[in-house]
Amino acid sequence: MKLKDDARFSTICIHAGQEPDPATGAIITPIYQTSTYVQDGLGRPHAGFEYGRTQNPTRMALERNIAAIEAGTEAFAFASGMAAIDTLLTRLEAGDHVLVSDNTYGGTFRLFERVRRKFGLDFTYVDTSRPELIEPALRPNTQYLFIETPTNPMLHITDIQCASNLAHKHNVKVVVDNTFASPYIQRPLTLGADIVLHSTTKFLNGHSDSVGGIVILKHQDDVDWMKFVQNAAGAILGPMDSWLILRGTKTLTVRMERTNENAQVIAEFLEAHPKVKRAIYPGLASHPHHRLARKQMKGFGGLISFDVGSLENAKTFLERVRLMALAESLGGVETLISHPAIMTHASVPKERRAMLGITDGLIRISVGIEDVEDLQADLEQALSAL
Ligand SMILES: *Cc1c(COP(=O)(O)O)cnc(C)c1O
Repeated sequence: MKLKDDARFSTICIHAGQEPDPATGAIITPIYQTSTYVQDGLGRPHAGFEYGRTQNPTRMALERNIAAIEAGTEAFAFASGMAAIDTLLTRLEAGDHVLVSDNTYGGTFRLFERVRRKFGLDFTYVDTSRPELIEPALRPNTQYLFIETPTNPMLHITDIQCASNLAHKHNVKVVVDNTFASPYIQRPLTLGADIVLHSTTKFLNGHSDSVGGIVILKHQDDVDWMKFVQNAAGAILGPMDSWLILRGTKTLTVRMERTNENAQVIAEFLEAHPKVKRAIYPGLASHPHHRLARKQMKGFGGLISFDVGSLENAKTFLERVRLMALAESLGGVETLISHPAIMTHASVPKERRAMLGITDGLIRISVGIEDVEDLQADLEQALSAL
């Protein structure tokens, strides 16, 4: 089952990194739920497996699989998306600076500001969807340009290729948090980025039954460091979760195709609805970065934000939806709905939320792969209460 070099995307998703189990021929990589491996004799060479933190065959299959999906050299899986981001920061030293997309994931902002700043790292934030703002914000000590595109929940789009060119002029490495798009929609390493990361909790796993993170690297010096620190710091992903995500990536293409289709229908429905003040979706012609999204993305993803005008309207609406579940997270087969100001972005100070456009009437949907007519009917009945 050796993949040819010109294998296409879905074939890579289903097959890359996985061989039939050598002991039994099992087509699916087993869950190697073991903490250690028996060695043949003292000082004798072993089969490459010593201890469960250092090596696990299920985790390593997942890492090979996602490295191939993102067109990277190697990947390293962690216990959560945040653990992946935090481990990436260990590549830096006190005194280093990271330039970050403003409107970044709330947990990332919290990690940077409340944990890592204490250790001498400096972070500043800029709207990276405006490339003219990037170069002036770089400093002599900037090591990473940390991009999220689309952003959460305003869905701003950054031109990854353009941002990478600008950063590389100054020897700054480009990190892309690709969680919101998924590699079906965009593969940042092919657009010039140096490092990609995911919360696998979202589209890669896709079934809302696992929390995990992964970092995909291009350069050998980054690979060597991450391999070392994954073991040294030890925030590894367990075998059961690795197995679940491996199962998830097999259906990434069909899930994302349906997600894209459903979200486009829902976004157009919301934009036309009289009770909706504003709908934000990169697939709408009204979206400020629609043209860039068409060029950079394959489809426009599953996230839609819309404004119902006030906190009171948002509360009424969220209590009325029946099919859509009120929950944080995204990227699962079921549609989730959330209120950024009170839920995902509660850790972002109010003035900063206002600056970013995260109003009290803003609602975010992660569109699932249900029948779109049922989703639309649910929205219609909930909006009719406003
Ligand atoms: C969820 C998420 C994270 C954090 O991942 P966890 O798996 O929850 O730790 C980071 N970035 C983005 C864009 C996310 O959506």
